[in-house]
Amino acid sequence: MAVIDAVANSIRIPLWRLFGGASNSVTTDITIPIVTPNEAAQLAAKYRGQGFQTLKLNVGKNLNSDMEVLKAIRLVHPDCSFILDANEGYTSKQAIEVLDRLNEMGVTPVLFEQPVHRDDWEGLRDVSVAAMERYRVAVAADESCRSLLDAQKIIHGNLAHVINIKLAKMGVLGALEVIDAARKAGIALMIGGMVETRIAMGFAGHLAAGLGCFRLVHCETFSAKRGYW
Ligand SMILES: [Mg+2]
Repeated sequence: MAVIDAVANSIRIPLWRLFGGASNSVTTDITIPIVTPNEAAQLAAKYRGQGFQTLKLNVGKNLNSDMEVLKAIRLVHPDCSFILDANEGYTSKQAIEVLDRLNEMGVTPVLFEQPVHRDDWEGLRDVSVAAMERYRVAVAADESCRSLLDAQKIIHGNLAHVINIKLAKMGVLGALEVIDAARKAGIALMIGGMVETRIAMGFAGHLAAGLGCFRLVHCETFSAKRGYW
């Protein structure tokens, strides 16, 4: 990343233009970590004030407390959209139950990320099928997609609807290969990050803006501060 950034700097081309120039801005969601319902509500109220419409909710530790957090957030930010990220935390049965219970509450998440363990390919497919058939909810593979090989498995097996690209997970060139394969197959893309520096997330933000092919952008470390550049 540093080398590509240095090259772009030396020829005085902003990174987003180097990556294709589709746009010079992105809209990002922001994370509510696993906290108590009270803390989650405080964060959601703050993010609402800052203009965040989509909240990414880390779930998967305990189904009942996840539901309590969700209810608390809705009270203070009733119009927000939810992305659920279970970070491999549910079984496929639990993940489907989460969607059923959300539906009873009148909540349809915009995305359900990595509901099951990364090697539980069958579970991932089961959740994807149920989520789409019952509620039109897309399921994303994050930890399950760490290489081009994983991406091909997901694409050919119809195991998920979205692939989450992370540069720290695949490297820049590896990520570009997966992006290319996903675009050719017509599978949707999101971009996110691990626990990364602002510079690394800035790079990811430039890549997302320049390519313009990401349905969802999760580059909060950078964009929450500045929104655009
Ligand atoms: Mg994730």
